[in-house]
Formats: sequence, C-alpha cells, structure tokens
Amino acid sequence: MSRDINSKFWDEELETLPREELEKRQLEDLKEIVKFAYDNAPYYKRSFDEVGVKPEDIKTLKDIQKFPFINKKTQRDTQGVGSFLGELAAVPEEDVVFISTSSGSTGVPTMSPFTKKDFDEFQDTESRWFWQIGMRPNDRYVHALNFSLYVGGPDVIGAQNLGALCIWGGTLPSERLLFILKTYKPTIIWTSPSYAWQLGEKALKAGYDPKKDFNIKKIIVAGELGGSIDATRKAIEEIWGAEVFDFYGLSDIFGACAAQCEYHDGLHIAENHILVETIDIHTGEVLEPGQTGELVFTTLRKHARPLIRFKTGDIGRIDTTKCKCGRTHGRISILGRKDDMFIVSAVNVFPSDIEAVIREQSDLTGEYLIRIFEKDFTSKYAVEIEKATGVDKDDDTVAAEVSAALKARIGVKPAKVIVHPDGGLNTRSEHKSRRVIYERNIDYNI
Ligand SMILES: [Zn+2]
Repeated sequence: MSRDINSKFWDEELETLPREELEKRQLEDLKEIVKFAYDNAPYYKRSFDEVGVKPEDIKTLKDIQKFPFINKKTQRDTQGVGSFLGELAAVPEEDVVFISTSSGSTGVPTMSPFTKKDFDEFQDTESRWFWQIGMRPNDRYVHALNFSLYVGGPDVIGAQNLGALCIWGGTLPSERLLFILKTYKPTIIWTSPSYAWQLGEKALKAGYDPKKDFNIKKIIVAGELGGSIDATRKAIEEIWGAEVFDFYGLSDIFGACAAQCEYHDGLHIAENHILVETIDIHTGEVLEPGQTGELVFTTLRKHARPLIRFKTGDIGRIDTTKCKCGRTHGRISILGRKDDMFIVSAVNVFPSDIEAVIREQSDLTGEYLIRIFEKDFTSKYAVEIEKATGVDKDDDTVAAEVSAALKARIGVKPAKVIVHPDGGLNTRSEHKSRRVIYERNIDYNI
C-alpha cells in the first residue's frame, strides 16, 4: 500500500470522523457484536438472560448500561469451560489463528484469542499508532518488547506493514541492544519506560553519549505509567535527545489500544474498536466523559472473544473533545491501576503521583520504592529513594525536601523517607519494575 508520507494520518477518514459519525458507526458495531456474543458465547447468553436484557435492547450507545459487567475473574472462571477457548469465546477453535496470554503476575494467566480478521484489524490499528507518532517507511525500528506469549510482541507486524525496516529485538541483554543501536542506527525503539531510562543510564556508564552515538529520534513506551508522567517522560527524553510517546495496551484487547500524538495530551483510543465507559469505583455508576473512574471497555469488532463491559481495573478518564492534531477519537488519561491505589488519611493516592514528585527532584536518581503499611489502624506510606552521586546535601535534608514535595503534591506526607546511595535500591530490573510493596509488619521506628 502506498500512502503519502507527508500525510499525518494513517487513515484520515477514520481518524477525523465527526464525532456524530463515529458514534453512529460505534452503534452499528455495538448492535452487531452484542447479538453475535449472545448468539455464540454461552456466558453472554446466560448472563444477559439472567438480568433480562436482549441484544435488541440496544437502540442507543447508552443502552449498553443495561448490560452486566465482566472482569478478569469472569475470564478466569470461564476459560477452558465447555471448550478449550471457554464460554466467553464466540467462534470455534478452527477460526482462531492466535492467542496471547496475560503475564499472570496477579493470578492465573488469561488468554485472548483472535480470528484472522481480528488479528488483521489489530495490526492495522498498530500501524495507525506508529504512523501517528511519525513512523514512516524510511524509519528503522527496534521492537524491544517480549515476544513470548505477550500481546505486545506482534505489534512489530504493524510497523512492518507500514513499511518500516523492523528489527525484532525482543528482550535482548542491554549490551547487545546497545550494540544494535550503535551499529544499525535505528531511529525508533519501543520498550518500557523504566527500561528506556535504565538503558540510557547503562549507555552513559558504558561510555556512550546516547544523543550523539545513536540515532534514536523517537521512543515508544508502554506497560508502565511513566510515559504519561511528564517528569519521567522528560527525564527519558533528556538522556536520549529523543521524543517519548506513551502507548497503552491491554492483553485482553490489543498490544496498543491507545497512543499519544504529537501533543502528548492524553492517549487517543481507537474508538472504532473500543466503546469506553467510565464508572464510579465504588458504586459502578456511569460517569460523564472527563470524570475520573474505572475504565470499562466494550470491544466493538473482536469476534473471537467479544468483551462486553469489561472492567479494566485501570483508573482514568476520557476527553472526547477534538484534539489539536485534528483527530476526533477520544483521549484517555490513566492515573493508575485500581489495585495499586491506596488510601492514606482519606486521600486516594496513586504510585504515579509519587513517581512524578521523585522524578522532578534533581538530587535523586529517580529510583524509588513505596511501602504501604498499617500503624495504629491507619494506612501509612513510606518512600525509599536514592540520592544521586555528587549531591553534597546530607540525607536528612534530602529526606525533608522530598517529604515536603510529596505533601505539597499529594496532600499527605509520607511517614518516612529513607535515603539510599546511588544504586542502593535494587529496582533496576530489565522488565517491569515492582515499586509498590505492601508490608504487614514494618518497624520504621515512627
Ligand atoms: Zn491528537
């Protein structure tokens, strides 16, 4: 396929559809997929019947609110039941060409099946995101994501279909990856934000200047929140002299369901594929666009395993106003995982709020650990940080400054700030870093 490389859109008509037209298409697809799910997936037949709703009840997009929610547990409980693909699947196994599975880090892995058409539309969506951040056929692209079972692995096909020269990097040891960056001079790389940052630091320590010795112009990050935290994004941009774009994916849907554009003001979500609702985290009540709550997605076009009102566990909001880039698809902002949110003195705190503060402090390396614990029947949090090499303030001063900055941003000061030397925290992993720890027994002497 040849496209005008000067066009800023992968699919201009789709990406700039007037809102009314976009919603009209959503409604057509919603009616079709709900009926398809009801007719073919045993779970939906049963759960719709139980609450007395029928596919024909959908006359407007809002009618989806009459239907029951599903969540990760529904997936776990129904997979393998009745057939290999389970009761949420709506096609026979012979129609399925690919399954990805979730990492299982928080329970039994769940699998996500794709028909050939699902998979092709998945890749077309990925091409759209790559084009949106400026990837063109003359780019060299390193896909430095896990290929094993993970839904983000195949996204490289989207870059290849766009015409870029693709290097299937996977999770290479950093020395080899740096060698590739040095010798092949790729222009775009995708990895996790923590790894993008650590790789930059490793490059500096190995004697490279990431700005001069490599040719990286754009870095895609996903899998953690850093890419949407301005201070983290800027820290990565500074090391590499490259522009950082945040992507958001769900193992249950696509490797990337949403992506930033050049304005970095939220992530455009593929609303032709996903109907977004936001619900109150306590009551389940549906909120208006712009309000913050748990994001609930209905997949509009995935036939292998339709997701009708899937509670993602992610807290965020959607802005449905037109973006400065001209795209009309809404922009989501993710604040954090519902499971990661903790409450201190009646304030909802997300680890991402803490990260933003830590990464803004020039005296720190940016590495951190958050410990949440109970004392005197009250939830408290402590933060461990690393003082950067060469900072001549004493640890107490650094701790006091961090504590004051956290209090100013979050409203609640940490029970304790523990200062380690550079490298003193063992948080530099090559995969997703676990930075929030719940402690049952802790003695901080406070
Ligand atoms: Zn935009």
